[in-house]
Parts: sequence; structure tokens; C-alpha cells
Amino acid sequence: MQEKGTISIHTENIFPIIKKFLYSDNEIFLRELVSNAVDASQKIKRLASLGEYKGELGDVRVEVSFDEKKKTIKISDRGIGMTAEEIKKYINQIAFSGATEFVEKFKDAKDANEIIGKFGLGFYSAFMVADLVEIDTLSYQEGAEPAKWTCDGSTSFEISKGKRKERGTDIILHINKESEEFLERFKLQQILDKYAKFLPIPIVFGTKTRQVEDGEDKDGKKKYKSVEEDNIINTTAPIWTKSPSDLTDEDYLNFYKELYPMSEDPLFWIHLNVDYPFNLTGVLYFPKVKNDFDFQRNKIKLFSRQVFITDEVKDIVPEFLMLLHGVIDSPDIPLNVSRSFLQADGNVKKINSYITKKVADKLGELYKKDRKAYEEKWNDIGLFVKYGMISEEKFYEKGKDFALFKNTKDEYATIEEYKEKIKDMQTDKDGNLVILYASDVSKQDAFITSANKRNYDVVVLDSPIDSHFVNQLEQKLDKVTMKRVDADVADKLINKEESIANVLTEEQTKQVKEIFDKAINNANMQVEVTSLNPEELPVTITMDEFMRRFKDMAQTGGGPNFYGAMPDSYKVAINANHKVIDKILKASGEEQSRLAKQSFDLAMLAQGMLTGKELTAFVQRSVEMI
Ligand code: ADP
Repeated sequence: MQEKGTISIHTENIFPIIKKFLYSDNEIFLRELVSNAVDASQKIKRLASLGEYKGELGDVRVEVSFDEKKKTIKISDRGIGMTAEEIKKYINQIAFSGATEFVEKFKDAKDANEIIGKFGLGFYSAFMVADLVEIDTLSYQEGAEPAKWTCDGSTSFEISKGKRKERGTDIILHINKESEEFLERFKLQQILDKYAKFLPIPIVFGTKTRQVEDGEDKDGKKKYKSVEEDNIINTTAPIWTKSPSDLTDEDYLNFYKELYPMSEDPLFWIHLNVDYPFNLTGVLYFPKVKNDFDFQRNKIKLFSRQVFITDEVKDIVPEFLMLLHGVIDSPDIPLNVSRSFLQADGNVKKINSYITKKVADKLGELYKKDRKAYEEKWNDIGLFVKYGMISEEKFYEKGKDFALFKNTKDEYATIEEYKEKIKDMQTDKDGNLVILYASDVSKQDAFITSANKRNYDVVVLDSPIDSHFVNQLEQKLDKVTMKRVDADVADKLINKEESIANVLTEEQTKQVKEIFDKAINNANMQVEVTSLNPEELPVTITMDEFMRRFKDMAQTGGGPNFYGAMPDSYKVAINANHKVIDKILKASGEEQSRLAKQSFDLAMLAQGMLTGKELTAFVQRSVEMI
């Protein structure tokens, strides 16, 4: 008995179209077919455990094999199988109705994933690589007849009675000319490693040899022999499917090594496990964050029921958590939809905030449990915590309790502790607390030293995102301003209304400004004569805090952009009370300008700004003066 039929759609030649659109991603045919085989295998196991299937269960595995000569790839399972009726229903009708819709709607689609699952085209992805596909199957149902289905990629198929005696399904692909690359062991192994490594049913691909003990020889030495055994490529129960109480630290570390073979050990990890209101499991690791951001991003792998889907989790995991590594497995993430839809999806939003909360709780717990150890890790996690506090409101709320400031003396304090620590010395006349920070401890050493002399404390904020962090803190913290230690001369960093007397007359002040303006001759240097402590340097160059911060922010992305394009503008503070200024006033015309230039260059030097011709001229002038 043989039945011929036409698949009931109006569009002819659907497969060339599918092939064309899906070509770039055509290796996923194997993921789709192996997942179908795994589903069918899990179903038979479930039916057996419910007592609805009473036959022999046997060794429920999926086998992938290929034949280079016949140019075929075969995926075999011992699952529930299908009757001819079921093939007609599940393979012919459902998938093809999806296919019709596909052709209409997705003429412009680029991404295979977008299409495949959405229209139930999983099985038909086989036609991306095959000219002819056979299904050879026997249903588990009592008295079922074996069935064989063949389709050559046109819209017609054939179903005949099959010869199969064992329960299960073979899918046989006759690989087309353009896809012969898949008829190679290495290639198939690679694809299986990518998609099937953690499937819940053993996947067999070829055989491997192993040495086993084989008694002893006459001298009592152990003998070995080689045995051929099935090469199982997957771990059926990866750690994220287990309960944390059954796992040791070593298990987590081993799994990490398995995922990222060349990486350093992670700092710590969290095990995710929710089943309501959405289903999600996973393990997220905190790597040691290096400044090389991009290299570390996109390392989280997304699975759906242990089938690898993608390592593009950008829209599922909050932006700042993209630095984490590990695995997320959720069947509740819509996989085949566009990006904007994904971001608006209710489950995805809930997943987002769940992960954020878990991560914040874990950090809070580490902080509470062992402050010392937490401080030691701060170098590695600080960047991450700050990133989170900047980008997620909810994370800020938790993070503010375990974010740390490290000062130039390597002492740590939380934000609240720090405010308490500096409040006596660093409150200005309006009652604002002024937090001083350094972004480059060695470059700003002169300024740090001056600040320390006044008993001001200086925190180190030297990571690429700190200009954003500083801005965020200032917005969040009441009556707190943040100033980089070189934003002004030390006397003026914190406005305390203690004015220092000026030894110069008004006339002399004007004269000093003129001398310096002429000597410096640069429109971006705003000369200002002020009365500072005589101990301060005669000339100090500073850049306004806001100007500089917004420029930094524009550079690392974010903040008002026009700041990035503005020229650097500096303030040149001349210390009216310094002996050198007195000396300049008393000198002759030419000497005046030489001394002014020299003291200005010294200030430039202290800021690391003196380079090129200016530096050469400075060295020359210094030699002459000696
Ligand atoms: P999906 O897997 O998304 O339902 P597919 O096109 O991949 O879509 O498969 C359609 C249906 O065909 C499956 O839902 C299943 O009922 C049936 N099927 C496919 N492969 C097998 C198999 N190896 N064993 C039993 N049934 C299968």
C-alpha cells in the first residue's frame, strides 16, 4: 500500500525560499532534528513512568551518524515514533501551514531563528541541507504499523508502509551538493558540541576506544585491552539542572572550566532557580573583570530545556550583567521574535529584575559574611557594582550599601562610612560634603599631597566608568559634591570661607595678570590672580570639575555629547602671596616674562601637560637659569 499526496498549500516550491533565507544558519538543522529526537525520547520515558507505556523501554538514546559514500546523515531515536496518521498531521499539515505563512510574512527576514520555531518549521529545516528526506518510524502504540515518508523538497510527499520493527524514528537526510561540508566527522562533532552538549538524553556520535583492565599476566602485572564503545557527546544532567545542595564548589568550578576552558577561575557564582511565575534555571559566574570590557561580554549562554539556543543574550539579561558568564535556561523566553518584542515581553522583564535582584543579594551576602574577603575582591567586582548602580535603579538601591570607596591609603569604606569619616574636615561653608577623588594617583600626586596636608582624604576612582559613577552619586546623595583633586588649588577645593589676605595692591594684581597673560599667550588658559597660602605653588593649573567630567563622560559614551567637542579650557591660578610673584614684580621687563613663563611651565609639568617644543624650551630655559 502506498499513498501519494500533495502537501496542502498553495505556494509552490517553498523550499528554495526557505533555503535561501535560512542559508547563513543552516547548521541548525541538526539542532532541530536532534531536539525532536530528544523530545520523542523524553515522551516515551514519561509515558513509561506514568505506566501508560508497558513495553520494554530499552536504552533510550539518540544516535547521529553519517555515510560519506551515500551522502546521508541519519538521526535515530528510540522515542515514541509516529503512525502514518501522525506524520500527516504533524509533519505535513502543521508545518506546511506554517510554511505558507512564512513565505508571506517573512520575505525580508534575515535571521533563521526568527522563522524556524515561530512557524513550526523545525523539521523542515532539514531541507536547508537535503534534497530528499526520509522518515522511517514505528509508533510505541500497540499494534501500530511502521510508516515511511519521503519528500524531495517539492510540495509532494509519499507515505508507504515501512519495515521497521523497533519503536522509534530514523530521519535520513540525503545531503545536497552545496551542503557536503556536513558529511564530515569534525564538522558534525563541532555542531553537536555547540548545540547538544547538555541535552537530557544521551547523544551517541560514532565510537571511541578505551583501555580497560584485562586480568593479569603470568608475572602478576595488570593487562589491558582496548574496547570500542559508543561515543556519548553530552552531559545529560548539567549542574544547572541539579539542586545547589547536591553540588560542591568543585562542581561549579569544573563546570566553569568546561564552558570557558582558557579562563581564570571565577570569583563566585549564583545558582538561579525559579519555577513561578516563569521557569528559569542557570548558573551565573562573576569573572575577574578586566578593563577589557568587550572581550568579556557576551559570554552567557542561553538554553531552552537544555538545548543551546544562542550566546546573544543582550535583550534578556540587563545590560550591566552582560559581564557575567554562565548559563541561563528558560523555556519561557520567546526565542523566535524580534528584538523590540523581546524587550517588551512580560516574562523577559520579570527575568531581568529577578536576575538583578539575585545578583544584588549575592553581593550583599558576600559583603556581610566576610567584609575582609569582600574588600580583597573589590578590585575585581567594583567596576561591575558601579556599572550596575549607574544603569539600574533597583540595583543602585541595594548596591549603595555594599559599594566601597578606596582611598589613596588603601583604606576601604562604604558610602555611609565614608561620609561619616570626612564630615569634620570636608564640609564646606554651605554644609555640603565635598568628596575628593583622584583618577590617576601618580599623575595627580602633587594635588593629592596638597590635599592630604590639609587633612583632606582622597578616594581613588580610576576605572573607565567612574566619571559616570561620580555623576550618579552626586545626583543620588543629598548635600554631597564630588571633586577631582586637581579641580582647583587645594585651598579652594572646599570652600570654607576662611579668606587669606592678599599681599598685593590692586594695581600690582592687575600687573601680575598682564605679565602672565602675555607670557602664556593662550586663549584656553584663564589666568586668575588669587591669594593662597604662601606654601602653595606660585602657579597651579586646574580644569573645572564639571567641564572635565562631562568631557570624560562624552568620551566613554553618555552625557551631553557637545562637551566632547569643546576645546579643553583651564584655569591658571597665580598665588599672589608667593615669594616668586614678588620677585617677578621687582624684575625688569624681559626677566619678568621669563620668570612667569618658567613658573607656568612648572605648573604644566606638574600636570603632565608639558610636551614637545614647549618642553624643549623649558629645559633650555632652565639650563640658562642655572
Ligand atoms: P516542533 O518540534 O516545534 O513541534 P517540528 O516541525 O520540529 O516542530 O516537528 C513537528 C512535530 O513532528 C513534532 O511536534 C512531533 O510531534 C513530530 N516529530 C518530529 N520529529 C519526531 C521524532 N523524531 N519522533 C516523534 N515525533 C516527531
